[in-house]
Amino acid sequence: MADVSKKAKKLHSRASMATRAIHAGEPRQKYADSLMTPIVQTATFTFKNSKAIEDYTKKGKAHYEYGRYGNPTAKIAEQRLADLEGAEDCVVFSSGMSAITTTILSLVHSGDHIVITDDSYKKTLEFCQSYLKQFAIDCTIVPFGSYDFIDKAIRKNTRFIFSESPTNPYLNIFDLVKIKKIADKHKILTLIDSTFATPYNQRPIEFGMDLVLQSCTKYLAGHNDILAGAVLGRQELVEKIRDLHKSMGGTIDPHCCYMLLRGLKTFPLRIRYQNESALRIAEWLEAHPAIRRVYYPFLPSHQHYEVATQQMQGGGGVVSFEIKGTLVDSKRLLDRLKLINIGPSLGGVESLITHPALVSYYDYSRKERYKLGITDTLFRFAVGIEDTDDLIADLDGALRKS
Ligand SMILES: *Cc1c(COP(=O)(O)O)cnc(C)c1O
Repeated sequence: MADVSKKAKKLHSRASMATRAIHAGEPRQKYADSLMTPIVQTATFTFKNSKAIEDYTKKGKAHYEYGRYGNPTAKIAEQRLADLEGAEDCVVFSSGMSAITTTILSLVHSGDHIVITDDSYKKTLEFCQSYLKQFAIDCTIVPFGSYDFIDKAIRKNTRFIFSESPTNPYLNIFDLVKIKKIADKHKILTLIDSTFATPYNQRPIEFGMDLVLQSCTKYLAGHNDILAGAVLGRQELVEKIRDLHKSMGGTIDPHCCYMLLRGLKTFPLRIRYQNESALRIAEWLEAHPAIRRVYYPFLPSHQHYEVATQQMQGGGGVVSFEIKGTLVDSKRLLDRLKLINIGPSLGGVESLITHPALVSYYDYSRKERYKLGITDTLFRFAVGIEDTDDLIADLDGALRKS
């Protein structure tokens, strides 16, 4: 399976995202004239003879060697993701966290300093706060949205600013234009976890961000059945990450790559529907008497509505909301749902609801939780692709007091 030809690449960059999600990065003629991407399910690759070895080692001729160093099915996924994100290069990983930790480690040395915004993904924050300290890498956690604070937090040894947009669970939007200015002033790199947005709703590279992180587990694969991650950006940066990835070994399995490629084909259709459905549900919730507050970036009531509508094509599939009442009322809502499943994660075809206080923050004291804005009555609803009216009916039934 040869890499995508220049001609094919040109064709793809002219096509719309719906078309590219199906065809980008894929050679037209494949093994045995298969229409589908062959799953090259192998741990290792062979050399025909000694000349083939030397063509590879001495003359730099393309050849696969060992599964941890690369695989043709993974290559197709990398090319497709890069095309969709508008990036020069991409590396796929066995999970979003593998992509994030490998990327961070490839960019820092002991004595360095990094800046990260406070409502980043919990495990990313934990990694930066606790584990990087072991290697004498200092980390400043800045409150999301205070750009002055970020500017002031940057030191001579600061390597990068890491942020996320939209964030979890309040769907705050990071102003990519503002952060680009600050990063340029200090000549540091910008890393954005764009998982909640996907390249359909937001392409941070077009805003000058250096690296984009994706948990492909969510919308990109889209079926709640695999874990996968990716980092995307300029070739010279991505190459450094690829090098460390070969040692860290968070390698994605070829079959899993196929599942990712299959999910990607319908991703623009799904996210377009999820954008519409989530907005309708957010509007419906906002008008409901049992609801205290709704958080959705494409609702005019959201604190970042303006930035959101400027830098994003759609608000995404996650709606967070607080109900009126107490923890008892929250539990009753969960217990009355019949269609929507209770569980973490987002971006799949099945709708999922989570109650952060009972799940992700169960080990925090109430006081600590409230400081982080995780109240007793807060829910995060990840809208799937079920019929919007059916989802609304399920929520309506669960919200009824009697
Ligand atoms: C899920 C998620 C991750 C972690 O990805 P995994 O694939 O679960 O390892 C990172 N960032 C965000 C924003 C996520 O939602």
